[in-house]
Amino acid sequence: MAEDAKKQQQLPPGMVIGPDGKPCKACTVFKDFAKTKGTVPGSGSKQAATAATMMGALATRPTECPPDSEKLGRSTWTFLHTAAAYYPVNPTPQHRRSMLSLLQSLPILYPCNYCAEHLGGEMQKNPPDVSGRAQLSKWLCDVHNEVNDRLGKDKFDCSRVIERWKDGPADGSCD
Ligand SMILES: Cc1cc2nc3c(=O)[nH]c(=O)nc-3n(C[C@H](O)[C@H](O)[C@H](O)COP(=O)(O)OP(=O)(O)OC[C@H]3O[C@@H](n4cnc5c(N)ncnc54)[C@H](O)[C@@H]3O)c2cc1C
Repeated sequence: MAEDAKKQQQLPPGMVIGPDGKPCKACTVFKDFAKTKGTVPGSGSKQAATAATMMGALATRPTECPPDSEKLGRSTWTFLHTAAAYYPVNPTPQHRRSMLSLLQSLPILYPCNYCAEHLGGEMQKNPPDVSGRAQLSKWLCDVHNEVNDRLGKDKFDCSRVIERWKDGPADGSCD
């Protein structure tokens, strides 16, 4: 435990240690971490340090870097909401079992460990509803909204999930 605290102290602020004791990119928001990268201690004026900090924050990463927690989150939500939107209206027992197994694996396998822990807690309070497309899409929307709420983001209007993840808007702009 003291060893963990020591390792965390040696890391740039914002970088999270994973369960393997190593820096976990998938648990870290890169832009928070990048804010610290532009500052060079003792490199001149406070303004120069602030400008360097901002440049660090704005620095774009190469496209093939490992995902941070935001990129991983966006990609995972895209897959999950899309899978829910294409889930059968009347699922077979096999569909139900497979979806339940996928969802129940997330608190164990999701690479951002504290995200996975929160999700496990939420799923205990509110178990997945795999009884049909509308029910599953609504359940997932509620789960995502719990995360949005915790992160201080706006809640999504769950009546729009099928439009957002399957049909696209009625104005045809996504066709
Ligand atoms: C299972 C899981 C748990 C997570 N837990 C955490 C956590 O504990 N801490 C943390 O910092 N990050 C967590 N994340 C990541 C976080 O949810 C976001 O993915 C990340 O912050 C990027 O956010 P974003 O604003 O780009 O949009 P995202 O939240 O990734 O959303 C992507 C798109 O989905 C749509 N959308 C938004 N809300 C809903 C909804 N309720 N229903 C349907 N569609 C919606 C919007 O069009 C949005 O642009 C988690 C991700 C996942 C998949």
